[in-house]
Amino acid sequence: MTKITPQPGILDIALYEGGAAHIEGIQNVVKLSSNENPYGPSDAAKEAFRKAAYDLHRYPSSDHGALRHAIGEVHALDSDRVICGAGSDEIIAFLCQAYAGPGDEVIHTEHGFAMYRISAMANGATPVEVPERERVTDVDAILAACTARTRLVFIANPNNPTGTMVGASELARLADNLPAHVLLVIDGAYAEYVEGYDGGTALVDARENVFMTRTFSKLYGLGGLRIGWGYGPRHVIDVLNRVRGPFNLSQAGLAAAKAAVRDTAWTEKCRADNTRMRAWLAEALAEHGVPSDTSTANFILARFASQAEAEACDEHLKADGLIVRRVAGYNLPNCLRITVGDEASCRRIAHAVGQFMKVAR
Ligand SMILES: *Cc1c(COP(=O)(O)O)cnc(C)c1O
Repeated sequence: MTKITPQPGILDIALYEGGAAHIEGIQNVVKLSSNENPYGPSDAAKEAFRKAAYDLHRYPSSDHGALRHAIGEVHALDSDRVICGAGSDEIIAFLCQAYAGPGDEVIHTEHGFAMYRISAMANGATPVEVPERERVTDVDAILAACTARTRLVFIANPNNPTGTMVGASELARLADNLPAHVLLVIDGAYAEYVEGYDGGTALVDARENVFMTRTFSKLYGLGGLRIGWGYGPRHVIDVLNRVRGPFNLSQAGLAAAKAAVRDTAWTEKCRADNTRMRAWLAEALAEHGVPSDTSTANFILARFASQAEAEACDEHLKADGLIVRRVAGYNLPNCLRITVGDEASCRRIAHAVGQFMKVAR
């Protein structure tokens, strides 16, 4: 028996399960399990990455000034209050590390993103799961769950894996009514997919208790490079920069992200395409008897009659070379999360689900 033991709670963490990428023995696989942009990053981002190859011996910028400046310009926010991380996962980790420890509570919702729970536990804090209302964030339930020990409230808006979101007035009501010692974190990983939504920027600017996270992994198509960012009040940014490692982002990642955020023509095209194909796919699935909530993100949460039916459909899709995501781990055992791919992928999915439903019922 080893006497070398980790901190209490670490061994209780359930490992994060990523979306599968391969199916044994099947070629021509379509991966629709991780909400990636089917078109990848913009050409400008790829070119910036290529050029970065000539400077790989140099340490990257430690203050991420050029990228923060570009983010500030494009999103019309104060670049001094932006912090960049190795994916927004790292920003979530910084928040938990800085604000939550043993005895503290971290609130996340019933179908919330797994990293909130994992990061809370990694720091010895207690994750608290709060019910949603029919797969939608429930502000009253969150407020009711707050205690003297609550430190952080995480909500993703739009949420993953439900695809639903709450409006600006509900977010403001949540921020207004939280106890004074609680920081609200609005995870905007899918904010860019929502036409006219600022991801929570205005709420951050108006208050001292709201923080927003964003990512280059979804709409920008740079999941492989690991770049995310946060925007918050000065006092929070100051705290997070103390726990952030000085060289947490690579020089190539910084360069690619800077080019990506400025290429708004590309992001517009990808957003519009997603909106069109998402509506098409949701309707095609509904015609086959598979309903879904109106999604505001780049995926659809398809609802089946039972867990057995969802799993059987997943097996059928897999045999067809289509990888989607099971979400039983998110308290949604009768659902499958399907990333909105390009038109060919959407047609393949719709066809395969239709074939399955013909024999399933
Ligand atoms: C994908 C995702 C993220 C983040 O990812 P990074 O790649 O670490 O930036 C964060 N939150 C939610 C809800 C997500 O779905």
